[in-house]
Amino acid sequence: MQTPNHKVEPARLYSDPNTRELLRRMLAESIALEPTVGADGRVHYTLAEDVLGAEADVKNWIAEMVHEDILRKQVSKEFVMCPVHTRADPIVMVECLKCKSKLSVKRSLVEHTYCGYIGDDSRFDKGGSLQCPNCGRPIRASNELRVSGVWYECQNCLSKTSSPRLVFVCKEGNHEFTVADLALVNVDSYTVNERVLAELRNTLLLDPQLAAMLVELGYDVESPAQVQGQSGSKHSLDIFAKRDGKTIALQVAVDTKPVEPSAVISFFAKTFDIKPNKAVLVTIPAASEEAKRLETGYGVALVEDFDGSGVVRKVKELLKEA
Ligand SMILES: [Zn+2]
Ligand SMILES: [Zn+2]
Ligand SMILES: [Zn+2]
Repeated sequence: MQTPNHKVEPARLYSDPNTRELLRRMLAESIALEPTVGADGRVHYTLAEDVLGAEADVKNWIAEMVHEDILRKQVSKEFVMCPVHTRADPIVMVECLKCKSKLSVKRSLVEHTYCGYIGDDSRFDKGGSLQCPNCGRPIRASNELRVSGVWYECQNCLSKTSSPRLVFVCKEGNHEFTVADLALVNVDSYTVNERVLAELRNTLLLDPQLAAMLVELGYDVESPAQVQGQSGSKHSLDIFAKRDGKTIALQVAVDTKPVEPSAVISFFAKTFDIKPNKAVLVTIPAASEEAKRLETGYGVALVEDFDGSGVVRKVKELLKEA
């Protein structure tokens, strides 16, 4: 008997309905988990919070998914944060170097490329249209002007500077901190790892199709299911369906190579306790020869399908035979 490999762990993770729903949405809508700064000043993964619930530990969930190679880090960013509070939403202000007033206006020095005149940008404004104050020609295209300098003029003491001091105001108590004081917090966005895309597509998109087919056939369907066995312990299954007192346990096993006997054995460990009338293990892309040899002895019906596209039809046919 094979020892359970690491594939067992993702199966446990996927059995959580919220995890499945979040990954399903990321796949179906091709979206990444992007960090945003919320009204509380903290970094949020809004989609994850929406699906997992406000109480969920999203950071821990992401860490677990990254650890299992289901999600991967995509882009890292550094957010500016208050060094005292963990808020990442400071207001940035320009401060006069001399009098510390925060009432500055931004001015730019603009050159008219035609005549070479250089002056304050406000002097080019002639009642809504742009015109050179030197040669009087109207300015029609942006390439007729060149910005040759920018500065800030304090409205309190009128001093000018091209490199003013930036001051950050924290929303927690309105205290100030500077470029020298600020903290940087590293935040990442995450996407579903290419390696598990095929597997997830099958589990997250195929299970609902199978469930829909069974509902159409008049079954009461639970998917994903938590089913209590005769021993009293609960087992997770992809699908558990009931009709006229008859039950079906259904599991989908996906691998990059033919599915190993361990998948049959772990499924059997559940069905032996649950005692369904029919136990179906779907294997994608195929079942290994060793797995097929176990099939009859364990009373598990194997359905093989190369890419998952024929699964619904094959399971339907199998149920008709019974
Ligand atoms: Zn603060
Ligand atoms: Zn001019
Ligand atoms: Zn000033």
